Amino acid sequence: MTEQRTIQKVLIANRGEIALRIHRACKEMGLATVVVHSEADRDAMAVRLADESVCIGPAPSSQSYLKKSQILAAAEITGADAIHPGYGFLSENAQFAEMVEAHGLAFIGPTAEHIRIMGDKIAAKQAMIDAGVPCVPGSDGAITSIAEAKKSAKKIGFPVLVKASAGGGGRGMKLAKTEADLENAVRTAKTEAKAAFGDDAVYLEKYLQGPRHIEVQVIADTHGNVAHLWERDCSLQRRNQKVFEEAPSPELTQAQREEIGMICAKAMEKLGYRGAGTIEFLYEDGRFYFIEMNTRLQVEHPVTEMITGIDLVREQIRIAEGKKLSFRQEDVLLVGHAIECRINAEHPETFVPSPGLITDFHAPGGPDVRLDSAVYAGYRIPPHYDSLIGKLIVHGRTRRECLMRLRRALSEMVVGGVHTTLDLHRRLVENEDVQNGNYNIHWLEKFLADNK
Ligand code: ADP
Repeated sequence: MTEQRTIQKVLIANRGEIALRIHRACKEMGLATVVVHSEADRDAMAVRLADESVCIGPAPSSQSYLKKSQILAAAEITGADAIHPGYGFLSENAQFAEMVEAHGLAFIGPTAEHIRIMGDKIAAKQAMIDAGVPCVPGSDGAITSIAEAKKSAKKIGFPVLVKASAGGGGRGMKLAKTEADLENAVRTAKTEAKAAFGDDAVYLEKYLQGPRHIEVQVIADTHGNVAHLWERDCSLQRRNQKVFEEAPSPELTQAQREEIGMICAKAMEKLGYRGAGTIEFLYEDGRFYFIEMNTRLQVEHPVTEMITGIDLVREQIRIAEGKKLSFRQEDVLLVGHAIECRINAEHPETFVPSPGLITDFHAPGGPDVRLDSAVYAGYRIPPHYDSLIGKLIVHGRTRRECLMRLRRALSEMVVGGVHTTLDLHRRLVENEDVQNGNYNIHWLEKFLADNK
C-alpha cells in the first residue's frame, strides 16, 4: 500500500530530447515543470519551454547532471514535489532515489531497493530465476577462481562470455571461445570491471551465437497492479548501442509474445516492483534468455506508446502519486507496427561525433509520424554529451506500411550543418533483410563492414 500524494511541480533531472519528452507529459497533465541544466545547455529547448530552469553547474556531467546535491537544492528552491530522472545520468542510481525520497520528494521511478538489485547483474539474474524468468545458462553467481571458472565453463559449454556483475555499456565483457582463452578473458574482464565500476565481480554465461535482442516493457503501480506492454525488438545494434527499434518483433508469434509478457508481469508482481521497467532478453531458436533489467524509462519507449496508445511518462507520474494504472492488462492494445530510428549527430560511416551548429532543420510530419527531438535551426550541439539528436518514430497498420512511411519521413527530414546518421537509416529501410525483419544482433555490424 502507499500513501497518495499530489504532484504539482516536477523537476526534470535530464537534458536533450528526454527532458522535453517529460516536460510534454507534465504539461498535458497540467503540471508545472522545472528543468535543471548545465552551463552548456542554456539554449536547450527544454530550458526554453519549462516553466522554470535552474543552472546546476558547468558542462561536464560529473559537475552538473550527476550532482545529486545540486539537483536536490534546485528542487528545494523551486518547490518541486517530484523528480523525474529520465534515462542515463542518475536514473539508475539507488542512492539518488533514496536521497530524493528522504527529502520528502517523489522519485518518479522504482524503489532504491529494486534499482540496486537490478544494477547488480548477478543479483538480478538470481531474482529473475527465483521469479520464474528464463535466463542464459551460466555460473552460479560470481567466479572466485580460475579453477572454478574452468569447471563452470565446461558445464556450460564453450564459447562462454565473461561478464561484469556491475556491467553496463558492454564494458567488462569478454568472450572465451575455448578453455585456452578463459584465464585471460576472466583476468581482463575483471581488470576492466574494476576500472570502470570499482567492482571486479564477474560471472560466466553461455555465449549465444546469433540471437535477437527482444525486451519486454513492464509497468506496475503500488496497488499490486502489473501489466506488460508487449515487446520491442532492438536487434539492430552497433557496438551494443541500439540504432533501430521496432514493436512488435517481426520474429514472434502472438502466442509467444503473450507468454513472455505474462512471465515478465508475474515476475514483477512477485518482486513487488514499482514503476516502468524493461526486461531484456536474448532470443534464439524459439527461446528467451534474460540478460538484464533496466529500471527506468528507455530511449526506445515511444515504439511501445505508438502500438498501445499508452503514455508511459504519464503512467510513471501517476504511479509516483500513488494512483492506480489507468488501464488493465486486458485493455492493452497492440495496434499495427512502430519503428524508431535513433538519429545521432555522427558521421554516418565513421560514426565520429559531429557537434556544432545546426544551420537548417526540417522535421518530417504527416500521419503517424512522431519526432522526439530537442534541436532546432540555430541550435549548437554541445560536445560534452551523447550524440542523440532525435528519434523518428513512425506507425503503420502493418509492418510494410510502417516501413513505407518511415522511408517517406526520412526523405523529408533535413538536418544541416552537422553530420547525422540519417543516411544510414535511409540505407537500412531500403535493405531487403531489414524489410523482411531478417536480422540478429550481429547483422548491423556485418552490414557496415560489408558496405564500407
Ligand atoms: P550491458 O549492460 O553492458 O549493455 P548486457 O548484458 O545488456 O550488457 O549485454 C549487452 C549486449 O551484449 C547484448 O545486447 C548482446 O548483444 C551481448 N550479449 C550479452 N550477453 C550475451 C550472451 N550470453 N551471448 C551473446 N551475446 C551476449
